[in-house]
Amino acid sequence: MKKKYDIVIVGNGVAGLFAALHLPKDKEIAIITKGSMEECDSYLAQGGICVLKNEDDYASFFEDTMRAGHYKNDRAAVELMIRSSQDIIKELIDFGVEFERKQGEFTYTKEGAHTASRILHHEDLTGKEITSKLLARVEERDNISIFEHTTMVDILEKDNECFGVMVSRNDDVHGACDGLAIDGNSHVGDDNSIKAKPAGVEQDNAPAQGNSGDEDIALDSADSNIEIVKIYSDYVIWACGGVGGLYKHSTNFRHLTGDTVALSVKHNIELKDVNYVQLHPTTLFAKITGRRFLISESVRGEGAILLDKDGNRFVDELLPRDRLTEKIKEQMAREGTDHVRLSVTHLDADEVKKRFPNIYKTCLEQGYDITKEPIPVVPAQHYFMGGVKVDLDGRTSMQRLYAAGETACNGVHGANRLASNSLLESLVWAKRGAEDISKNYVSADHSWCEEYFEKESSEGYVPDKTYVETAEEYFYAAREKVRPGFNG
Ligand SMILES: Cc1cc2nc3c(=O)[nH]c(=O)nc-3n(C[C@H](O)[C@H](O)[C@H](O)COP(=O)(O)OP(=O)(O)OC[C@H]3O[C@@H](n4cnc5c(N)ncnc54)[C@H](O)[C@@H]3O)c2cc1C
Repeated sequence: MKKKYDIVIVGNGVAGLFAALHLPKDKEIAIITKGSMEECDSYLAQGGICVLKNEDDYASFFEDTMRAGHYKNDRAAVELMIRSSQDIIKELIDFGVEFERKQGEFTYTKEGAHTASRILHHEDLTGKEITSKLLARVEERDNISIFEHTTMVDILEKDNECFGVMVSRNDDVHGACDGLAIDGNSHVGDDNSIKAKPAGVEQDNAPAQGNSGDEDIALDSADSNIEIVKIYSDYVIWACGGVGGLYKHSTNFRHLTGDTVALSVKHNIELKDVNYVQLHPTTLFAKITGRRFLISESVRGEGAILLDKDGNRFVDELLPRDRLTEKIKEQMAREGTDHVRLSVTHLDADEVKKRFPNIYKTCLEQGYDITKEPIPVVPAQHYFMGGVKVDLDGRTSMQRLYAAGETACNGVHGANRLASNSLLESLVWAKRGAEDISKNYVSADHSWCEEYFEKESSEGYVPDKTYVETAEEYFYAAREKVRPGFNG
């Protein structure tokens, strides 16, 4: 890892990767991620991605998005997302993404709160298809390096301008985050011996892939040692995903703990709609804790029905997510149960297996043959509509800092996201942010940074703390913001 990149992207989901692909090829870009490459929610997306099928669908696509969002949406953002969708899909196809087709024509599916079928999908693994193809294109670029197990623990900021990030390498993010969300207590791990190196002692391992240059920082540490490293850059893009790790039950990866929320509080970066958190009505019920497996809305879109404990259908399965979640919770309270049941047994078994191979296989592994019996389902945290406030070009309130994807809030989803609008929104704003940077690129002067960030003026930066202390502090700061009162 070098000391300086032109642009640092934090996060390797669809937002981070798509942004990287839209930045100039003559800029050196570092993508960093807390986990390994496949540990991002983008890989988990099942249902699909919305697209404006034709002009006739514009008004109803717009209205469906607004209605689902309780009309709290930013209208300009909604229009921009819908109007950009066809170009985004064309680009994805050019990048090698394959969507389901019949006789050469796209097949569109439907999900809750959509009044028309306008969702493209790849089996029930749409996120994996898109993310893996974007990653393959990123890997072909010599100017982009990816660093796994590298956590942003701070930004290098002065006078509301961002000059890079401080990262922790080789840390145990999973251990740290799980401990917090599950206990809800201030416990992140037992290994108090894990101390960050003092500021200025910068070390490295080989990047996960990509280039390294002659200014590389020397290697002298074992993998097991956590290192704190400063990376300077002209621009930073936050593409850090959601906040599911703050919840005991969530469909998200556990290491997505809303770090940008905590850092925004610390550095006075504007946030927006942080109280808008979406629960998904149907996740596979399990008594064990850990990430909840999603039973995609498209299963209901294709005809699945929700049953009470006596086997009676009790609700319109295609209500918007928040309303359906309420109905399921009411039903569970009435019955005194901890789940309801979702059935596809009335649908053609071969079609179900073909359309939802991943869901079929995972449920089978958990002991449920969905073609023969209903599956127990329960609502769980799923998506963060709020986040770091950005404008239509992905700019945050801090100079040289952009945000895209679930971590950002441009207001497009309002108070409740319409199904399959998230991948689309992430891609639209990742591209716009990257293009805005490219168009207005101004190199930063970093000559003063080393001294400044090493000295007293940088007090409050993390090198004097352990990674787990920092993770814990940020966890509580983010949770207090997103779930006020919960920390108490
Ligand atoms: C189970 C599931 C199914 C879904 N299905 C759909 C669907 O069908 N259609 C749809 O449109 N949307 C769907 N979504 C939502 C959608 O997948 C996400 O909103 C979207 O993929 C977010 O992409 P992203 O790039 O913003 O973040 P992510 O893909 O989550 O990536 C965030 C990355 O940031 C990294 N990161 C976070 N904090 C730090 C830090 N401090 N330092 C370094 N790295 C950090 C993480 O390691 C991660 O790699 C689904 C979500 C889930 C969980």
